[in-house]
Amino acid sequence: MTISPEKYQTPTLPAVPTGLLIGGSWRPATGGATIAVDNPAPGEILAEVADGTEQDGVEALRAAAAAQGALHAMTPTERARLLRRVETELRDRIEEFALLITAEMGKALPEARAEVNYSADFFGWFADEAVRVAGDYRLSPNGSTRILVSHKPVGPCLLITPWNFPLAMGARKIAPALAAGCPSVLKPAGQTPLSSLLLAEVIESAGAPAGAVNVVTTSRSGAVTTAMIETGLARKLSFTGSTAVGKILLGQCARHVMRTSMELGGNAPFLVFEDADLDAAVEGAIVAKMRNVGQACTAANRFIVAAGIAQDFTTRLAARIAAMESGPGWVEGVEVGPLVDDAAVAKFEELLADAVAKGATVVTGGGASSGRFVEPTVLADVAEGSAVLAEEIFGPMAPVVTFTSDAEAVRLANDTDYGLVSYVYTRDLDRTLAMVDHLHTGMVGINVGVVSNAAAPFGGVKESGLGREGGFEGLSEYQDTTYAALPAPRHSP
Ligand code: NAP
Repeated sequence: MTISPEKYQTPTLPAVPTGLLIGGSWRPATGGATIAVDNPAPGEILAEVADGTEQDGVEALRAAAAAQGALHAMTPTERARLLRRVETELRDRIEEFALLITAEMGKALPEARAEVNYSADFFGWFADEAVRVAGDYRLSPNGSTRILVSHKPVGPCLLITPWNFPLAMGARKIAPALAAGCPSVLKPAGQTPLSSLLLAEVIESAGAPAGAVNVVTTSRSGAVTTAMIETGLARKLSFTGSTAVGKILLGQCARHVMRTSMELGGNAPFLVFEDADLDAAVEGAIVAKMRNVGQACTAANRFIVAAGIAQDFTTRLAARIAAMESGPGWVEGVEVGPLVDDAAVAKFEELLADAVAKGATVVTGGGASSGRFVEPTVLADVAEGSAVLAEEIFGPMAPVVTFTSDAEAVRLANDTDYGLVSYVYTRDLDRTLAMVDHLHTGMVGINVGVVSNAAAPFGGVKESGLGREGGFEGLSEYQDTTYAALPAPRHSP
């Protein structure tokens, strides 16, 4: 594939703070080092942001701990209003945020706008949740004790986010943390910190107490977050990223018995049954596979299709994918941007070569890459044991395998250590409910290609994670439960 270079000029970006936000002040990293942030389409440098040190990370955590009292002193309504102001600002400034996301990460502008709205949804949802923190009252079975249950903020939180949804992943954590009354330190991905930095500025301007939200960017994530966790000041870690890094962090948090929420990797099966509406299945497949150029934890990784319709489905999917326009994300009409970095391109090429060597047929794509642009590819006849079926592809490649019974479809779908989401296309109600019961994933999309929603409990099982973001469940991830025992009344009045 060839992408014409004259389209590569990055548009002018909004001004973004580039320092560390600690205790309400922006400042350079200790020692003054910076990290270059690049635009993956042409590979040019967009900005230099502070390269925080261990000392900076610890100071940010101390600032968060110091802000706990100020956040606690805010009434639920005050916290809700703060969140609502952030929601409004995100929606008002959607073009600025979307352009930053596209420039730092590569996705097409319409998808970046959708990410801004999705992020705003979380501030709106948790603004509503902030004033609905319920407790409960019970009586012990023998009538001797009154039981009063209440929920308190868990304390200072460390929030670590990946590059693929650079704004939304932070929004999904900061909004419930603030709603619950928890101060936090956000450590965004080193490759995509710009939209997070602008979000932090918006939260500050919306009236958050100094230190309620701190941001530390760093090129040495492991060392800096280890130093922060080792202080024992953080009471909670919320991490979104790879399963490999999640496991390291779980080990570190175990030493301090910290609360953790883990949104990790995925290997989503996309099942198409013989009775499916094939047009809807192809459209759902396009969204589930091609959103974010396939770089989503929820991306359909394996297409598991009834043998009788597999050829028809594959041909239609390949035609739709082949017609999608590739290019820099800010160019009008572009649907497929670049992959995030050179390593992602190399991995895509390795997975493709392995599948073809094991007998896969290339139905569309499979051509040479151009810079960080890879050719969207559909593969048929993919052999069991191909790496593309076992690993997160994180790119626009759709391997199709077939099944001849529902039991075989379920076996293939569950044949992975991951368990984030599965997609099912069928018009049969019994089969739908059986799939919801038997697929080992935290989420199931039924005749839909996207499941993310601020009102829904997003999260996985198995090695895809622990805990949920969004929904009613999202707030409790940032709360501890306190039970007070009181004597039951002995006398009637
Ligand atoms: P990653 O390499 O695990 O990095 C995620 C974050 O962790 C980044 O901020 C990274 O910082 C930081 N990090 C890396 N090594 C660390 C360490 N030793 N200690 C502490 N922090 C560390 O993942 P990624 O490549 O950015 O993101 C892709 C992964 O995220 C995929 O597996 C995807 O499925 C998953 N994901 C999951 C969800 C979900 O909701 N389940 C959503 C989106 C993405 P640096 O940037 O400095 O490396």
